Amino acid sequence: MVETEVIETAVDLRNKITVVGKKVSILGAARSGLAAARLLEEKGASVFVSDSGSPEKLQSQISTLQSAGIEIETGKHSERVYNADMIVISPGVPSTAPVVQEAKRRGIRTVSELEIASWLCPCPIIAVTGSNGKTTTTMLIGRMLYDGRKKHIVAGNIGTAFSSVISELEEDSIAVLEVSSFQLDHIESFRPKVSIILNITPDHLDRYGGSFDLYIASKCKIFKNQTSEDYLIYDYDDWVTREHVNRFAVGNVHTIPFSVSNRFDEGAFVEDGKLITMLDGTKLEIIDIDQISIPGVHNLYNSMAATLAAQLMGVARPSFRATLKNFKGVEHRLETVRELRGVKYVNDSKATNIDSVWYALQAFKEPIVLLLGGRDKGNDYSRLYDLVQQHVRAIVAIGESADKVMREFSGKTKTVKASSIEEAVKAANAIAVHGDVVLLSPACASFDWFQDYEHRGTMFKEIVQSLT
Ligand code: ADP
Repeated sequence: MVETEVIETAVDLRNKITVVGKKVSILGAARSGLAAARLLEEKGASVFVSDSGSPEKLQSQISTLQSAGIEIETGKHSERVYNADMIVISPGVPSTAPVVQEAKRRGIRTVSELEIASWLCPCPIIAVTGSNGKTTTTMLIGRMLYDGRKKHIVAGNIGTAFSSVISELEEDSIAVLEVSSFQLDHIESFRPKVSIILNITPDHLDRYGGSFDLYIASKCKIFKNQTSEDYLIYDYDDWVTREHVNRFAVGNVHTIPFSVSNRFDEGAFVEDGKLITMLDGTKLEIIDIDQISIPGVHNLYNSMAATLAAQLMGVARPSFRATLKNFKGVEHRLETVRELRGVKYVNDSKATNIDSVWYALQAFKEPIVLLLGGRDKGNDYSRLYDLVQQHVRAIVAIGESADKVMREFSGKTKTVKASSIEEAVKAANAIAVHGDVVLLSPACASFDWFQDYEHRGTMFKEIVQSLT
């Protein structure tokens, strides 16, 4: 069940929190663990970092920490971890890991890097979560603030740890953060001025013991410390989000919905083909939706959420219009690579779940040759059947799950199996005809054939560029 009680406000807690002289263990020596270690050490804590990965793989982290005078152990989590006032858990370490469970059993305070950075953040926070669209929306808000000349920094799950930008923030800055459920898992007082829930669909359930409820609860923590002075922007059309916001946020937080099929006295919606916002009784026509540069209805949702957030931070309308017209989107998210003999090649390597592929298929009117498959997280492909039958000329099955993909879609469209990404692009190139789109939107993780989704997208792009 969702945790609802609003605990003491962040400000009350922040005043009680000091890290000076505190013993802090940090689990995980990746980007956010390193940034948290440096920040806490600088603020006077005594820091110890523990990572169960092999020392060979952690060479650069070891030398970075050692040169900052911070101790690190690798290859294990020793008893020393528990000799701490507080343990900071990196997003890569599951709550179910024995070391986290043991810390809890011993009653040691466990927090995320997001939480500790928020104690030291001097300015308002816009926090963006959701199963899909976080990076796009976070970047779009950043761009809106930039175009609207507001001092800001974009950080969080997006690649720059929040802890690493704290020293650059001032009271009149705005911190725009992409936050994942893993970062929200261990918050206490994290309280954004503006939070956004873009959508909640089943993802990462392996980290939540298969429980969708636990995953939802984690996402909903984004608003647990917010009060009526803060804002929660949410997707009214996503029933899971709507239900949970109605039950647990309305009344506690200033909630602002967005929708493509409803209208509100306050919120963002579509009227006569225009994106409209209503805030404080003022109705603004922001832009004709067909002028928004990033494609698909999902990006219309992202645009509505971003516009509301930026508007709440004082950005003015002419500036939004320009940003929405010019924003190029983010690499590996429905990114147009090239057009060759009338066939458009699109890289959507970041589509690692069914929902994002569902939106990708909606985003094109043209027939699609779809590259689908990879490391499957237990996908239920039936949600794609109708769209595939309507829009997809052929599926080229790739990765570990190629056989499953072939089975799932046989009889629904033409299916071909490829044994490398190169073979897949060549097969798609051979099948596609003038006016088609070749779309890499795999619905799966990439770790079977690639290092990560960026590697997968980059390989795809290189091969597409080499086609003659
Ligand atoms: P995240 O950071 O949440 O993973 P991204 O912006 O990186 O989100 O997009 C991930 C994938 O989801 C891409 O394939 C993208 O096209 C798709 N996507 C983006 N926004 C949405 C949305 N609002 N709903 C569903 N899918 C989306």
